[in-house]
Amino acid sequence: MERKVRVRFAPSPTGPLHIGGVRTALYNYLFAKKHGGDFILRIEDTDQTRFVPGAEEYIIESFNWLGIKFDEGLGIGGDYGPYRQSDRKTMYKEYAEELLCSGWAYHAFDTPEELDTIRKEFEKEKKNFQYDCNTRDSLKNSLSLSKEAVDRLLENNTPYVIRFKFPKDTEILIHDLIRGEVRMNSNLLDDKVLYKSDGMPTYHLANIVDDHLMNISHVIRGEEWLPSCPLHVMLYKAFGWESTMPEFAHLPLLLKPDGNGKLSKRDGDRLGFPVFPLQWTDPITKDISSGYKESGYIPEAVINILALLGWNSGTEKEIFSLDELIEIFSLERISKSGAKFDLEKAKWFNHQYLQLKSNAEITNEYMPILEKKGVEVCLEYVEEAVGLVKERVSFVTELWDQSFFLFLKPESYDEKIIKKRWKEGVPQRLTEIVEILNSIEDFNPQSAHDKVHAYIEGNELNMGQIMNCLRLSIVGEGKGPDLFEIMALIGKEEAIERINLAIAKIGGNE
Ligand code: GLU
Repeated sequence: MERKVRVRFAPSPTGPLHIGGVRTALYNYLFAKKHGGDFILRIEDTDQTRFVPGAEEYIIESFNWLGIKFDEGLGIGGDYGPYRQSDRKTMYKEYAEELLCSGWAYHAFDTPEELDTIRKEFEKEKKNFQYDCNTRDSLKNSLSLSKEAVDRLLENNTPYVIRFKFPKDTEILIHDLIRGEVRMNSNLLDDKVLYKSDGMPTYHLANIVDDHLMNISHVIRGEEWLPSCPLHVMLYKAFGWESTMPEFAHLPLLLKPDGNGKLSKRDGDRLGFPVFPLQWTDPITKDISSGYKESGYIPEAVINILALLGWNSGTEKEIFSLDELIEIFSLERISKSGAKFDLEKAKWFNHQYLQLKSNAEITNEYMPILEKKGVEVCLEYVEEAVGLVKERVSFVTELWDQSFFLFLKPESYDEKIIKKRWKEGVPQRLTEIVEILNSIEDFNPQSAHDKVHAYIEGNELNMGQIMNCLRLSIVGEGKGPDLFEIMALIGKEEAIERINLAIAKIGGNE
């Protein structure tokens, strides 16, 4: 029988969740859903020194915002809990002891100071110190000391850690679903600490024990964990769990936009875009890092952006709903090389998703902005305004700049346009246009357009000049959507008032 797909996202609550982490979670989610499997949230908080208050809540809130749902895990429950490693603390000791008994691990009594001294001695000789099969016999551990000496140290409650004992001269083979076969010689690997003197397991031990106990079928995680994978594979062997060992898939890195190095937590605001899903306030420094949500990104757009950073559908299509992604996602189409973050492309995605929203939805988000600007208008009017300008923006926050003239009369007029277009005779022509507009009974974009054009053409006037001056009078600048659409929305009276106001304010310009 085929094994049920069970994957986990296992963040450490050491700060806000980086979008690289969100992408890892997304790929796990897509893979699980595609195969009718379970997607689990496990919090890996064994390193108490790196715990950051609020980080766990932040992680959960981020996925709520993105609409990515876990089937099992912290805050949800399930048959394999608890799902926070600190709540599983008491479970790990027996596994560390099992490895001690079977000879796959050993006690190490070296103090951090002693190891530091040795490290410095190595450095003096331009060598790198590693606690491994070449050095462990000369260090203070249960392999180098006599049994009596070890017993005495333990009886005296001497602090110790438990280290994994890598066998010598062994080739470790990893079958990575993305990278293929990766081989590593055990002589190069350090005997990682599995269990710490504070009575907590390290990430490595807890991660393997939990993946085993939670019956995880596939481990899909960032490339930065590939160097730890030989240890993980060996741990499965040491425990005798090889037959149920998960399959591994290490995802390519997310790179800075210029491709030079990993996109780090510090990059975001420096490079002008968020690297976190939600805004984060550092609990100690109170520094604020921007979030996609607060920057006006639509969750579905963020998912689409991340899905295509390191994976491709094999087609030209770029816009995918979550359901479509589930349908076509496959680990085979994940690239081996890093994916560059592209800000312009990210904005483009948001633009596309914004256009898919109804005018009413966008209006709801725009209303608070209008309120702040002191604009009081009815919903229906704003909805029409939104309909007129939304294709010009990628974010709701950009709407004001593209639509303020639909709510306010111009307070000033673009000097460059005045200089270039507001020539002698223009005020007279505009006054005549005011009369024409005034005479239109059924005032709409088409009727206004037809009448004004007929007037300009009939008098053999310069179309560009008159239309630009008309726009300047209505908008105050040279921008905006179709001028007759604007006029129809603000209404005949308002349009006329604005033209008269411009004539009075700009005058003859001679
Ligand atoms: N706790 C690890 C992290 O923070 C999880 C790595 C893994 O998925 O094995 O990324």
